[in-house]
Amino acid sequence: MRADGVPPVCSGCDHVCFLVHDVHRRRARELPLLIYRVELDVPVRRLHCPVCGPTRERIDWLPGRSPVTTTLRQWVERLVTLRPIRHVADLVGLHWHTVKSIDKQRLQRDLPAPDPIRLRRLMMDEFALLNPEQAVKQTKKGKHWFSA
Ligand SMILES: [Zn+2]
Repeated sequence: MRADGVPPVCSGCDHVCFLVHDVHRRRARELPLLIYRVELDVPVRRLHCPVCGPTRERIDWLPGRSPVTTTLRQWVERLVTLRPIRHVADLVGLHWHTVKSIDKQRLQRDLPAPDPIRLRRLMMDEFALLNPEQAVKQTKKGKHWFSA
């Protein structure tokens, strides 16, 4: 067990597992504290789960391999509804692709899938206006949202 007394929980099956293989450290970004960027150095136990085999422990506030905590993710999700992605990336000190990925996951989670029967207009963003050929390729791949 860790110093905080929390037993490790397998990220695969969500069962408590005491077979700790080793501990590695993970760096994660947390919400800024006033004007300071906060980076956490988190010890994560690698487990040998009898059900799943080698796996990592589940940390609720640091899911999967995410480089940001759940709190920072929620804050970024709120900010991207108010400001462009580049502004949010500059404000929180994350890479543009990280903010874009968080926003994309939010959109996939919160917006319903478009009904192709009701589609009337094709909406494209500024990237599409700058490079029409790339926009056509991405539209064919289904990377753009449609409006009914
Ligand atoms: Zn397991």
